[in-house]
Amino acid sequence: MARGLPRTGSALLQSTAYHGRVSSECLFCRIVSGELPADVVHREKGIIAFTDIHPVAETHVLVVPERHIDDLRHIQDSDAELWLRMACVANEVAADLGHEQGYRFYVSVGSAGGQTVPHLHIHVMGGSMRRLPV
Ligand code: 5GP
Ligand code: ZN
Repeated sequence: MARGLPRTGSALLQSTAYHGRVSSECLFCRIVSGELPADVVHREKGIIAFTDIHPVAETHVLVVPERHIDDLRHIQDSDAELWLRMACVANEVAADLGHEQGYRFYVSVGSAGGQTVPHLHIHVMGGSMRRLPV
């Protein structure tokens, strides 16, 4: 299941539109809706993964729920399946990009936790790393 993810920039991935609720104020919602471009590496129902615009590792991908959730403190029991699937997507993207031996799974929670984009996301960082995101 982890293998054979469509590669970066695939026309299929780029053309997959999301018609759910997004916030026009939120950067990642605007990427989800297709209003802003992103280097999409994986997309499935409810989840998108794209390359971080300022990568600090050889692989630096963000796994993002399509639905707007401010940060990890806002997930609820009903989001259990979504959160599990986001973790699986992180594993799959990391493996597909050659990091079967391991990678960094990183989540900043709230501005006091270093979060700069207030839409839940998992950082998937693999290979040589320059620094942790701040
Ligand atoms: P945080 O600081 O919230 O943990 O992570 C936010 C991440 O989003 C940062 O690593 C930052 O480089 C990335 N980022 C900010 N703006 C954009 C953007 O417009 N496009 C993409 N692909 N990544 C972004
Ligand atoms: Zn959002």
